[in-house]
Amino acid sequence: MSIPIASDSLKHIGWDNLNIAKFKDFYLFYFASDEFYDWHHMVWHKYHSLRYSAYAWLALGGGLKTSDVLIARNIPVLDRYCSFCHTSLETTTHLMFECDYSFKVLVKLIPSFQTHFFRPTIYLALQHIDNFARTKSKNFKNSLLLILNALVYFLWMERNNRRMFWAVDDDDSPDISFWMVYGQPKEKLILDL
Ligand SMILES: [Zn+2]
Repeated sequence: MSIPIASDSLKHIGWDNLNIAKFKDFYLFYFASDEFYDWHHMVWHKYHSLRYSAYAWLALGGGLKTSDVLIARNIPVLDRYCSFCHTSLETTTHLMFECDYSFKVLVKLIPSFQTHFFRPTIYLALQHIDNFARTKSKNFKNSLLLILNALVYFLWMERNNRRMFWAVDDDDSPDISFWMVYGQPKEKLILDL
């Protein structure tokens, strides 16, 4: 038995009426039933760092194990207060960025947040930066997204250090320090708090 091989490009196995299916088509099909989040492009932006964005993603999804989350799961917590200010109950919303400590760091890194009447959540902070796309370059916006995602990571690490290793610093001024180099040499952005 012979099976004819058609040279007509219209007669071949396709995918969802696509003549040439790409990996992206399979990928999108696999996740088609998942919920869509409008912040994904701000966390997983073009120049994202996996380590930083993973923590921002966790925070946005309520995945950080803050005191309120542990208590809700009946896990005993010795100190349910914020490790930065020691006055408010620890929640993700408080840590990012209701707390005086974290808000000071945020404003130091991205001064435009100083004009905000209310202290932003991570989501509102991302949206604020995303709006820069109307007036600033994509590189500028992506650099700020990188900074914000990194800030979430470093704040969480600082919180863990204070909570687990008792590395408490009662100084009012934030003592988080890190530096980042971003983009091409002519667009280097160096931060050293
Ligand atoms: Zn606090």
